[in-house]
Amino acid sequence: MTRAVVFDLWDTLVDFDVEGSIAVQTAMAKRFGRDPEEFRRAWNDTRATRETGPLAPSLAAFGADEALVRELVELRTAAARRWLVPREGVIETLRELGARGLARGLISVCSEEVAVLWDESPFRGLFEATVFSCSVGLAKPDPRIYLLACEQLGVEPAEALFVGDGANDELAGAERVGMRGVLIHRPGKAPYWPGALDWPGARVTSIPEVLELI
Ligand SMILES: [Mg+2]
Repeated sequence: MTRAVVFDLWDTLVDFDVEGSIAVQTAMAKRFGRDPEEFRRAWNDTRATRETGPLAPSLAAFGADEALVRELVELRTAAARRWLVPREGVIETLRELGARGLARGLISVCSEEVAVLWDESPFRGLFEATVFSCSVGLAKPDPRIYLLACEQLGVEPAEALFVGDGANDELAGAERVGMRGVLIHRPGKAPYWPGALDWPGARVTSIPEVLELI
C-alpha cells in the first residue's frame, strides 16, 4: 500500500531554468572578473561541495571576501525565488494527496538558497518532510537520503513512491532502497536524462497523473 509520495524538485515540481541559471553564472563570472565560459566550467566543478553544504566556502574558493559572498548569495537567492514556481496542478495534487491521508516528501539536490527560501515559497506547509542535500550533506542517489526522507515521513521505503525526472540516477537510487520510482518527463518529449530514456517503471507527464498511481 502506498502511504507516501516523495518528489524531486527541479524539472519535477518546478521547471529548471537553464538560461536563467547560465545568466546567474555569467553575472557571477563578471563579479569575479573571469571569462564566463571558463568560470562556468570551474563553478560546475564545485557542484558536489555546494550541494552538500553551505555556499560560502565554494565562493571563497574563488577569492570572494565576506562582502562578495553576501552579494553573490543574495544574487543566487533572488534567482531561486523566481524559480520556485510550482508547475501546473502541483499545488492541487499535493493538497489532494494530503486529503487522502498520504504523507508528502521532497528530496532535492540543491544549494542553500532553496532551503532558505522554502518556507516563503508557494510550497510552504505542503510537505511532511523536506530533505535538501545542502542541509543534510547527502545527495541522490545515496541510499541514506531516501531512507532519511522515509524515516521523517514515518513510512517504510516499500510504502513510498519517488517521482522525479531522473537526474542524478535518482529513480534507480530510489528503487535500490525499495521505493517505487516514477519517471516524469515533458509531454511529447523523450526523457532528458539518458539514464531515464528506457526507464522500465511507471511514468507520467504531469504531476496530477501521480494520483492515478496511488
Ligand atoms: Mg530533477
